[in-house]
Amino acid sequence: MGSQEVSTVDWQGKHLTVAGLGVSGIPAARALHERGAVVTVVNDGEDERARAQAAELEALGITVRLGDGATLPPSTELVVTAPGWQPDKPLFLAAAEAGVDIWGDVELAWRLRGTNGRKAAPWLAVTGTNGKTTTVRMLASILEAAGLRTAAVGNIGVSLLDAVLGEQEYDVLAVELSSYQLHWAPSLRAHSAAVLNLAPDHLDWHGSMEAYAADKGRVYEGNTVACVYNAADPATEDLVREADVEEGCRAIGFTLGTPGPSQLGVVDGILVDRAFVANRQKQAQELAEVSDVNPPAPHNIANALAAAALARAFGVEPAAVRDGLRNFRPDAHRIEHVADIGDVAYVDDSKATNTHATEASLAAYDSIVWIAGGLAKGATFDELVTGAAKRLRGVVLMGADRALIREALTRHAPEVPVVDLDRTDTGAMSEAVEHAARLARPGDTVLLAPACASMDMFTNYNKRGEAFADAVRARAETSA
Ligand code: ADP
Repeated sequence: MGSQEVSTVDWQGKHLTVAGLGVSGIPAARALHERGAVVTVVNDGEDERARAQAAELEALGITVRLGDGATLPPSTELVVTAPGWQPDKPLFLAAAEAGVDIWGDVELAWRLRGTNGRKAAPWLAVTGTNGKTTTVRMLASILEAAGLRTAAVGNIGVSLLDAVLGEQEYDVLAVELSSYQLHWAPSLRAHSAAVLNLAPDHLDWHGSMEAYAADKGRVYEGNTVACVYNAADPATEDLVREADVEEGCRAIGFTLGTPGPSQLGVVDGILVDRAFVANRQKQAQELAEVSDVNPPAPHNIANALAAAALARAFGVEPAAVRDGLRNFRPDAHRIEHVADIGDVAYVDDSKATNTHATEASLAAYDSIVWIAGGLAKGATFDELVTGAAKRLRGVVLMGADRALIREALTRHAPEVPVVDLDRTDTGAMSEAVEHAARLARPGDTVLLAPACASMDMFTNYNKRGEAFADAVRARAETSA
């Protein structure tokens, strides 16, 4: 079957088990029930919210089993799982033993696309350890600037199932995929896809770095036009090499340097395309200026190049790449400029929850007072600190695992002043900002890029970023 064709499954009377009530489980259960399947939802938890959700589904005729997500209902012919459920759960082991297939929400959306009388839009897919959301939003902005009907969907707040089964018809979808989603999406075949980078993350879920990389690499399987890789990250190119793609599909690299043939890159402050041009040996096409990228930090220029590569693979004109990048506004807490106080910039990158992301944001500034710490999730900080040491004016540490960062600083940057905040109450961030302001010199950047998860002190990274921004604004007011 041609990879972009729509598959048809006869759901009538099929016994399906949906694993997990939640953002993907509920629409999956509904969609399958509407198509005549006999659906049972199983869920580990049975709190008040789950009971209310169960009641709604039961009113439609869907069976819900709360408090038992482990046992496979005996007549199950297919399991549809929420992406986050760990592959070694007893439910999945039982399914594997019984020869029952397991699909995630992405697989289901892929199979159901085009079955509601609307066009099955091709997918431009993005995965990677960091930068997915930003790249997918940039891509959607470029596609919009080209006049295409599109949306940024997937692991980004808008469920793929809703996008695929909704009223709106699309020409193309910009799809963010997590490694979990890819794990459970065996037949997904994107038009083109990008793996932005590959650094250890979520290894507890996948079991090993090899398994994590293999799941990310699935995004390239069956691509028809382009597999976009990061020339600075050979692991991403390896994944292209290992992928089984459609005849004629090309490997396209992106680089912050001068691009070779079949690459996009940067020359004298200009983003250029040496891949989708008539004569790539001799010709390069100007797409946009570095200053069109918002913010023009190195890792974000890489994201812009990846988005541009996918858009160009889809046939988008250079001017739309430029306009789309200019129109793009980054999401909150991702290198977000909060205020300038005196001659010091305050930047919120609370979303930098791992060392790889933090490495990128520390690389974007010359002289930094760095606010870091939280839950390390098993990470080590030696490499991060070594790479950034020369640019650190000072460091303010907070949170449960701050000692790990302090020890790395002692080893690799002993001359950098460090303030160690031994408090976890709501006022801690204000105190951190005060210390940072004291350490900063004119021209410096105070950067919240914690390299850690936030849950030891905050509900999530949004709340951590807001606490930082509140503290900075309060300071800006008093110093105005
Ligand atoms: P994701 O959706 O993959 O989590 P985001 O776009 O939300 O990615 O960015 C998450 C964090 O990763 C941001 O804090 C940013 O500093 C960092 N980041 C963004 N793009 C890159 C990149 N290409 N390489 C490394 N870090 C990045």
